[in-house]
Amino acid sequence: MDDFTHGKAVELAPGVRRVVAPNPGVMTGPGTNSYLLGIKNVTVLDPGPADAEHAAAILGAVEAGGGKLVQIVTTHTHPDHSPCAALLQEKTGATVIGAVIAQDGFQDESFSPDREPTHDEIIDVDGDALRAIYSPGHVGNHFCYLHERSGLLFTGDHVMQGSTVVIIPPAGDMKDYIDSLRRMLDYPLKFIAPGHGGLIAEPAKELDYLVKHRLKREAKVADKLAAFEQVMLDELVLSVYDDVDPSLHPAAQYSLLAHLLKLEKEGRAMRNGDNWSLI
Ligand SMILES: [Zn+2]
Repeated sequence: MDDFTHGKAVELAPGVRRVVAPNPGVMTGPGTNSYLLGIKNVTVLDPGPADAEHAAAILGAVEAGGGKLVQIVTTHTHPDHSPCAALLQEKTGATVIGAVIAQDGFQDESFSPDREPTHDEIIDVDGDALRAIYSPGHVGNHFCYLHERSGLLFTGDHVMQGSTVVIIPPAGDMKDYIDSLRRMLDYPLKFIAPGHGGLIAEPAKELDYLVKHRLKREAKVADKLAAFEQVMLDELVLSVYDDVDPSLHPAAQYSLLAHLLKLEKEGRAMRNGDNWSLI
């Protein structure tokens, strides 16, 4: 199951296959996971980056199973998740379902869905129910999707295997993120199928861990902030993320800002220009 060979379709459950895109990296793990749901009338969930080779691998897997691509569903519109939708729709005429958000410099400009999902709606995927679950936090237009028959929760970048999700304000919001993690516990989950990396067992345990991890980091933010009269992000990141490789500090600064904005909203921190201080 943990075969991340790019372009190879790996079966995770009956009627559920994964094809990994050739975009491995620090932020993307082995590459973006595109999931194929159904055999005859296939839905691709997170088509991935605009990569002709990846589009061909998806269509090849669909055809090998004797099916056709009829639907494209996206978790969000970061460039490693949605741009291949345009390529695939052009080739197949498949319907695109995904939420949009204002451009903030981090969104897929080519994304133009036929319609947007609504929270808790059931989308038909080759006779199975796929429940859309609104999950803002990583970004404001993020949806997770629960494949009800298999109990697989497709989490996009809401939860990924092996690394912590970056929250980029203002489209990303730490309070929303933690609330969305907690909301997933209301659903009957068997496995988490992330946008990057392999299946994660014991979803409730993982979600609980992620909430605690964020709150622990928040406590560290408050603790380190107390050591300064006032401080800028690029200095504060050094002590708050001293357990993280310095090459990741530029990305960590986004999450740090997200933590500070949450503390500001709660009346625990304040901002003066680019400087932050504890109240
Ligand atoms: Zn993302």
